Amino acid sequence: MNNIAVIGSGTMGNGIAHVFAQHGYNVSLIDISEDSLKKALATIDKNLARQVEKGAISAEIKQKAIANISTSTSIKDGIANADLIVEAATESIDLKLKIFKEMDEAAKSTAILSTNTSSISITKIASVTKRPEKVIGMHFMNPVPVMKLIEVIRGYSTSNETTESIMALSKKLEKIPVEANDYPGFVANRILMPMINEAIYSLYEGVAGVSEIDTVMKLGMAHPMGPLQLADFIGLDVCLSILRVLHDGFGNPKYAPCPLLINMVQAGHKGVKSGSGFYQYKAGSKELAVAERFSK
Ligand code: NAD
Repeated sequence: MNNIAVIGSGTMGNGIAHVFAQHGYNVSLIDISEDSLKKALATIDKNLARQVEKGAISAEIKQKAIANISTSTSIKDGIANADLIVEAATESIDLKLKIFKEMDEAAKSTAILSTNTSSISITKIASVTKRPEKVIGMHFMNPVPVMKLIEVIRGYSTSNETTESIMALSKKLEKIPVEANDYPGFVANRILMPMINEAIYSLYEGVAGVSEIDTVMKLGMAHPMGPLQLADFIGLDVCLSILRVLHDGFGNPKYAPCPLLINMVQAGHKGVKSGSGFYQYKAGSKELAVAERFSK
């Protein structure tokens, strides 16, 4: 496997392209937005430069990595030579089903089609292709160049051969792959999102304030980041949509998203990306300040 196509060049797509290119793979990075492709290349350059500064990679590897990446705004052209496609476009089921149909038609018959979805069923995505045995989840963690884990998710029809080749490839990227089956939220989000939701319920019910809840989890449970800060980092809209997948998928009220989370998303307070969530974020400021609404 030498040629990798990455569809979507946002937060995750640029990190995925970065990691493959750094490890010597030819990467075709595809997005509908020229602007997103430009930003992705600039981000990859900046992040590789940081690795060089830290002595993690040489300047030569950086240069080669940049040279390994080409960009395209056409899925058909961008994936034509790919042995593996990693889809990392916006988290929307309709969009992913459309992209997978297109991928299935345009990709080589031997190509493996993977998705970085946080919560959408791999089995459902595979069902719109004529090669469900070659469809698999490759769930990278954010920020991709830093985080070691890849959750490798087998759909109902994913073959052993496909799973084995993705597990082996993940190790070549110096990541640690963990295999999981395709049920709502897989492992990572099935466990993480109820914890985040419970933290939001604790705030909503007045059990404690934002920084108190996060401090308890940081100092008491040795979490590097509190659940409310982590929710802001992931994006409150993303958390809400994953909780809805868990709630719908299991039909269990324990996954019902907290009304406060729903309100915040509806009001446009989505965390870091919108400038405010449980905390407020000012460009250039590293200080973590609780959002005005939640400060005493
Ligand atoms: P993002 O919004 O940062 O980027 C999505 C990109 O997809 C955008 O650049 C957009 O222009 C592009 N796109 C939209 N439609 C497209 C199309 N038809 N063809 C090509 N490109 C298209 O989103 P993200 O946070 O990078 O998330 C991408 C995927 O990764 C989602 O499935 C998400 O659930 C998953 N994920 C996200 C995180 C996270 O922390 N952000 C972590 C793990 C997995």
